Amino acid sequence: MRSYVEESQLFGKEDPEELAVRYGTPLYVYNEEIIRRHMKAVAGVITKYPYRANYSMKANSNLSILKMAREEGLNADAMSVGEIMLLLKAGFSSDRIFFVPNNVSEEELQFAIGHGIMTSLDSLDQLDLFGSINPGGKCSVRINPGIGAGHHEKVVTAGRKTKFGIEEHDIDAAFDIAKKYGLHITEINQHVGSQYLDPQPFLDAAENFLRIAEKFNELEYIDFGGGYGIPYHKLEDEAQFDMEDFSKRFTEVLDSYAEKHPNDLPLFKSEPGRYCVAEGGVILGRVHAVKQNYGIRYAGTDIGMNVLARPTLYDSWHDLEILRDGKAVTDGERENVYVTGNICESGDLLCKDRNLPVIHRGDLICVLDAGAYGFSMSSSYNSRPRAAEVLITKEGTAKLIRRRETYEAMFADLVDD
Ligand SMILES: *Cc1c(COP(=O)(O)O)cnc(C)c1O
Repeated sequence: MRSYVEESQLFGKEDPEELAVRYGTPLYVYNEEIIRRHMKAVAGVITKYPYRANYSMKANSNLSILKMAREEGLNADAMSVGEIMLLLKAGFSSDRIFFVPNNVSEEELQFAIGHGIMTSLDSLDQLDLFGSINPGGKCSVRINPGIGAGHHEKVVTAGRKTKFGIEEHDIDAAFDIAKKYGLHITEINQHVGSQYLDPQPFLDAAENFLRIAEKFNELEYIDFGGGYGIPYHKLEDEAQFDMEDFSKRFTEVLDSYAEKHPNDLPLFKSEPGRYCVAEGGVILGRVHAVKQNYGIRYAGTDIGMNVLARPTLYDSWHDLEILRDGKAVTDGERENVYVTGNICESGDLLCKDRNLPVIHRGDLICVLDAGAYGFSMSSSYNSRPRAAEVLITKEGTAKLIRRRETYEAMFADLVDD
């Protein structure tokens, strides 16, 4: 069996067993080189036209990672006031931040307006609210293309069944609202789905979006959204998203629009999140108990659904490696096992019935592809402090980038009189 952590040298010069002892488990470990490589790839997708990739920071909002995105020339998408604050803290100037919220209050919109941050409005109602507090301003409108993404059913249903954006036939109503407040809709954005390995649905949606763009007459930006996928089944040789091929085909889609708009070419944008960070992060956790219940083999770890929510939330697959004495166990006896966490929920499972090398108490479990939607979705459920995060720097050595949450911090807001 392959070992991704060894092939990619994810731990640099560090020994994962020593990291686990030094920082404790569960522990998020990121590799700077891998993350920067992915960020560079998305930044360079389009070179023929004005283009900018916005890192969708909800995938991973650690300050050190945000700083990397800034250094790699990415702009950033924020979904909340908290995310805007973090971006400002990471040194992003206001003009490099795009606020893409939904269902926010007047105060939250006011925060973005006050900082001069371009904002996307997700409904006619939010557009009206925005106009009423920022008449004469510029804004973006999020379009939900619904139908129109062609024959790719997944994208189409994703559009129709999600809460996001305004429908195409509401664009005239959006113009009416804009007119009422003197607003300038200088950007349109969409985000049609996530985790594509085949770019065709994205490209179809992009082509459709350029058709919709013709309805607007003062566009400075057209934002096609994110969603580039990563191979979660990499140990079974699942192929990477082919960025080179995508870059070529995406450019071709833009060509026809560019031909029609030689003098008013907007800045094209995309919003990758997962692709930037997923493969550059893993979770190290300790196996504390192995047992057999009614014929099922369980390996009990400290990586609960509080640490990584994706398997419980979406039934997501994450490849797992077993580390013993700091080395990946790639051969020897195997067995089918359910790997679980330490949370009191029966849904607290990292995987079901997975064929893995035989696991023993004291082993480390390494969860691959945990750099995106890992820590950022974690919680302190069961009153378990949130994990620490460590970065393997370009020098190959570990640097703590988030301390493990303390019990004091966890209890700090409780009011007890
Ligand atoms: C989450 C999100 C993204 C990023 O999606 P990925 O699948 O992580 O690339 C981009 N745009 C919007 C509006 C999002 O909500």
